[in-house]
Amino acid sequence: MNDGSNKEVGKRITRREFVARLGRGASACALVGVSAALFARGDEQELVWQIDPFKCTQCGLCQTECVLDQSAVRCAHDFQMCGYCKFCFGFFRDDALELTEGAENQACPTGAITRKFIEDPYYEYTIDRDLCIACGKCVKGCNQFGNGSLYLQVQQDICLNCSECAISAACPANAFVRVPADRPYFVKHLGPDELARSYPMR
Ligand code: SF4
Ligand code: SF4
Ligand code: SF4
Repeated sequence: MNDGSNKEVGKRITRREFVARLGRGASACALVGVSAALFARGDEQELVWQIDPFKCTQCGLCQTECVLDQSAVRCAHDFQMCGYCKFCFGFFRDDALELTEGAENQACPTGAITRKFIEDPYYEYTIDRDLCIACGKCVKGCNQFGNGSLYLQVQQDICLNCSECAISAACPANAFVRVPADRPYFVKHLGPDELARSYPMR
């Protein structure tokens, strides 16, 4: 045990330890060299923040933790997954008295979701991105009882791409990941396995 008097400093090392240390030093130098070479060639990829929709638990912190007044996170809708349900669990409060568009029946606190009748019994649901405050209420309802077609996404044209994202630091689900800036949006219907294959750095 080191007693703080630095007795370890003068300790002799064995030949095996010496060779091992040389090896570690050489590996570190090689890594630095490769990184420098990649950087010099412009291969360093710009990364941005995104949310893994399969990890997010809709805890509500995306609304409150962003450094921006209105969070850079907003709700997205994958229409290929949607059931176009008449009773949409993302649109209606779970204690709604009537299945009408009255504000008192809607889950969204800002009226950001509109629905359009398609044909009985199908409705299409659209998010007004400017009104969305990323509270996640609709996402929670859709994921708990529906197809999970609603999900939260970092909007790259709004996000400041802070080096330490404040939401990421607070996220209890470790759902924030760094992804390449040239393909920054997850397409949820591809599923978790395909996303993991497409984004190996996650
Ligand atoms: S902080 Fe994490 S778990 Fe909470 S809503 Fe945002 S991404 Fe989802
Ligand atoms: S319920 Fe919340 S997350 Fe969903 S659209 Fe409305 S503000 Fe956005
Ligand atoms: S990187 Fe900054 S601006 Fe973007 S979501 Fe995180 S805290 Fe908000």
